[in-house]
Amino acid sequence: MNENIENTTDILVVGAGMVAHRLVESVLSRAEAGMRITVIGDENRAPYDRVGLTGYFAGSTPQQLTLDPGVFDDDRVTLIADDRVTRIDRVAKTVTTRAHRSLGYDTLVLATGSYAARVAVDGADLPGCFVYRTLDDVQALRQFVSRRGAELGRPLRGAVIGGGLLGLEAAGALQSLDVECTVVQSSDRLMSAQLDIAGGGMLRRLIEAKGISVRTQSRTTRLDPDASGAVTALEFQDGSFHRATWSSSPSGSGRVTNSHAPPT
Ligand SMILES: Cc1cc2nc3c(=O)[nH]c(=O)nc-3n(C[C@H](O)[C@H](O)[C@H](O)COP(=O)(O)OP(=O)(O)OC[C@H]3O[C@@H](n4cnc5c(N)ncnc54)[C@H](O)[C@@H]3O)c2cc1C
Repeated sequence: MNENIENTTDILVVGAGMVAHRLVESVLSRAEAGMRITVIGDENRAPYDRVGLTGYFAGSTPQQLTLDPGVFDDDRVTLIADDRVTRIDRVAKTVTTRAHRSLGYDTLVLATGSYAARVAVDGADLPGCFVYRTLDDVQALRQFVSRRGAELGRPLRGAVIGGGLLGLEAAGALQSLDVECTVVQSSDRLMSAQLDIAGGGMLRRLIEAKGISVRTQSRTTRLDPDASGAVTALEFQDGSFHRATWSSSPSGSGRVTNSHAPPT
């Protein structure tokens, strides 16, 4: 990357997500000579179909979700996984990474997407609380449900904080793991950014008919642990609470992309 071969342009892409993958495909398709692309991402894997993440709970393997790995077979392309860019020096045209790499560039592309924002309440980091954005997140969630279910010897109760598109996806994923699930929404209806009151009411009936409980106008103020330290209940602004063995809160790319949930 730092070798300065004349007439070679170094393109450095920060973030190895769906956009980075599409960008590399597109640049390669123009078949310009004298170009090298380095993609650096902090997940420990090649880019995958994040939109299809919930397919993991329907049996899709991480390999099946992986986006065409062929683009990284091209000699002009290098993928560096499991490392994170921590500093950009725009004057020197270099980036520094968590693993102390220093990489130069001619063109820098930031394709860092979004992150999963945890609800900013006490207890959000308790064991049994998850976000829903990466393959690592969903693998950890499935392992937790399996382990905790075996420990307790009964089906788990879970709560998804956030009743947007991703929250509903997360709730469906949990239901597929036999978790009794409640979606907790702070506003007066599900998918309040997209639906009016009537539409929100119709969606609620559909979701409840699938066996998923919905609790609206409930702002979570705290997550409580049980004696083992794992999350066991959500407390709300009005003083009420909901028992759960795990919890997840969605957040996303743009605004909607991921989820975490607490366990019962
Ligand atoms: C469950 C789920 C369902 C979704 N469904 C839809 C849908 O139906 N329709 C839709 O349009 N969108 C959907 N989305 C959103 C969609 O996944 C995102 O819009 C898309 O992934 C954005 O692609 P991206 O490459 O910009 O970002 P990302 O996919 O977030 O990739 C960015 C990558 O960069 C990495 N990164 C961040 N900072 C650094 C750094 N400093 N150094 C190195 N790497 C870094 C991140 O860890 C990540 O791997 C969904 C998301 C989720 C989680």
